[in-house]
Amino acid sequence: MKPAKAAEKRRGPTRAEGQCLCGAVQFEIGVPARWAWHDHNANSRRAHGAAYATYVGCWRSRFRILKGEDEVTRFTEPESGHVRSFCSQCGTPIAYARAHAPQMINVPRALISSGAGREPRYHIGIDQLQEWTYQGEALSPLKGFAGVVWTRAKRKRA
Ligand SMILES: [Zn+2]
Repeated sequence: MKPAKAAEKRRGPTRAEGQCLCGAVQFEIGVPARWAWHDHNANSRRAHGAAYATYVGCWRSRFRILKGEDEVTRFTEPESGHVRSFCSQCGTPIAYARAHAPQMINVPRALISSGAGREPRYHIGIDQLQEWTYQGEALSPLKGFAGVVWTRAKRKRA
């Protein structure tokens, strides 16, 4: 048995793989990751086209592109110098490197198909949480639409 496989058997997985929507870019990170967090800032919201982004942060030395390095395009945010990498084929965000933490790389949690070894327990920019974000309100089935649930309108209390 190879040393890496023996370690995996002893301690659980030591790496987790992820990929973009089209599969052109594949990567791996070492697990357990350093930390995981929700980013509510406007730039991450826009870069993901989502209410917020959930990242797994890992040491740059433990992040590796397995396939599709040539497909990775980078955008540097002019004000901050933060670098966002994405797949040039399908647009999936791949990595987010913040200028003040060059030794770390953050990958979208949603791209990793297995465990990352960290739960996202931290929030950055929670003051920017959007009021339209789903926050666990009670849901009801929508009549006539299988698989669709909805939040009933809130009644104003007198
Ligand atoms: Zn892709």
